[in-house]
Amino acid sequence: TGKKGSDSKIVVLGKAGVGKSALVVRFLTRRFIWEYDPTLECTYKHHTTIDEESVNMEILDTAGQEWTIQREGHVRWADGFVLVYAISDRQSFEEISNIKQNLDDIKKTNSMCVLVGNKTDLCHERKVSYMEGQNVATDMSCAFYETSASEGGEEISEFFHELHREIKRRKQV
Ligand code: GDP
Ligand code: MG
Repeated sequence: TGKKGSDSKIVVLGKAGVGKSALVVRFLTRRFIWEYDPTLECTYKHHTTIDEESVNMEILDTAGQEWTIQREGHVRWADGFVLVYAISDRQSFEEISNIKQNLDDIKKTNSMCVLVGNKTDLCHERKVSYMEGQNVATDMSCAFYETSASEGGEEISEFFHELHREIKRRKQV
């Protein structure tokens, strides 16, 4: 038999407008589309290879902010989370710790996350420094990335892949 594959279920969370859909679409298609339906909540199935292993990812791109029963179900379903803010939107950054707290409450454990500061192309509108992002990530004991969905750097694949690796590690313990 060949090398067994692994699966991960990922939920993308963050304030409306931070670029969750743009990041997910960029990761899946390597393209940037300027406008998405802001109310669209959608799960993508993505087959890829990470560290020479066959991987099936399911990625839920959330919309809206309410912590409904449905969202709690999604949180329980997920193995890990991409928490997104925009470096040009201070409030989106301040919401991250609330989101993380809600996740930990629902999961009843330290939830597996990566923190992503999006829209680095808007450097002239920066409201959150790199260090502030890094410090929050350290507090949450998760990896930190800054990126731009519109410019589409390698870090977009990196953080999805890194989250997958962390999920896999935790499942093996
Ligand atoms: P969501 O509500 O979090 O899913 O955000 P969207 O992906 O719909 O993006 C919201 C708006 O921000 C759209 O107008 C996008 O074109 C824009 N946007 C997303 N990512 C970036 C980025 O990296 N840089 C810039 N300048 N705009 C972005
Ligand atoms: Mg969206």
